[in-house]
Amino acid sequence: MHVSIRSTHRIAEGTSEVVLDGFDDSFDFVPGQYVTITLPTLEHFSPRERFRDFSVASSPQELPELRIAFRDSESPFKKELASLSQGTEIECEGPKGVFTFDAAEGRPVYCIAGGIGVTPFVSMVRSGVFSVESRHRLYHFNRDLAHTPYHKELTELLKDQYVAVYESVSEPTLPREDDVQGTHWYIAGPPGMVRSVRDILAVRGVPDVHTHTEEFSGYE
Ligand SMILES: Cc1cc2nc3c(=O)[nH]c(=O)nc-3n(C[C@H](O)[C@H](O)[C@H](O)COP(=O)(O)OP(=O)(O)OC[C@H]3O[C@@H](n4cnc5c(N)ncnc54)[C@H](O)[C@@H]3O)c2cc1C
Repeated sequence: MHVSIRSTHRIAEGTSEVVLDGFDDSFDFVPGQYVTITLPTLEHFSPRERFRDFSVASSPQELPELRIAFRDSESPFKKELASLSQGTEIECEGPKGVFTFDAAEGRPVYCIAGGIGVTPFVSMVRSGVFSVESRHRLYHFNRDLAHTPYHKELTELLKDQYVAVYESVSEPTLPREDDVQGTHWYIAGPPGMVRSVRDILAVRGVPDVHTHTEEFSGYE
């Protein structure tokens, strides 16, 4: 689907959010899903460098607008995306993925976000999924406050359901669940971080089917 750039702005140190516009009625998504963005202006690059996957950071209620967010890098794709002016047409494919909350209906959920891995959870929060269950928690791991995207909004919306952590993921920095068998875990971020959390939970005895992951392949 052809959509256009509406605006681009900073949401943390080295982190940008892009608002896309022009999604028609045929497009809908569930919070947690992602889209593939292709930049036609990169026609002289290899096909693999012309597209990237991004979890949707906005809620379905915000359509026909849709938000994605990313850490800046020196890749041609990111540099181009960050510099596109309002009205530029780009290609968006999707929605894709199964990283959605349905699997955990009625159960407390611990969400673990590594840095920009918070985007699918921002979509869930913005669409109201979190507010239906006071036991849900979002733990957000970043280097420091300046590098923590959406910190202000998540703190205001989630209050003590949101916990910002300025340390690496490890056994002591992960939350302890009261009910190992009953709690569901959602983990999103760079592949190495996602695998570390999964390994720690496996050692704790969390059932594999209660661990849902989204690896942001391409980071690392
Ligand atoms: C389901 C999903 C959701 C994602 N959501 C986000 C998001 O919300 N925000 C965000 O910033 N990033 C997200 N990513 C990662 C994103 O697609 C980019 O890979 C990442 O941002 C790095 O981009 P870059 O241009 O800086 O990479 P570079 O450092 O230029 O890429 C490194 C290498 O990885 C390759 N590569 C890039 N993407 C992939 C991929 N998906 N699989 C395999 N190889 C790849 C490139 O071709 C390149 O050779 C997501 C990835 C996936 C799979």
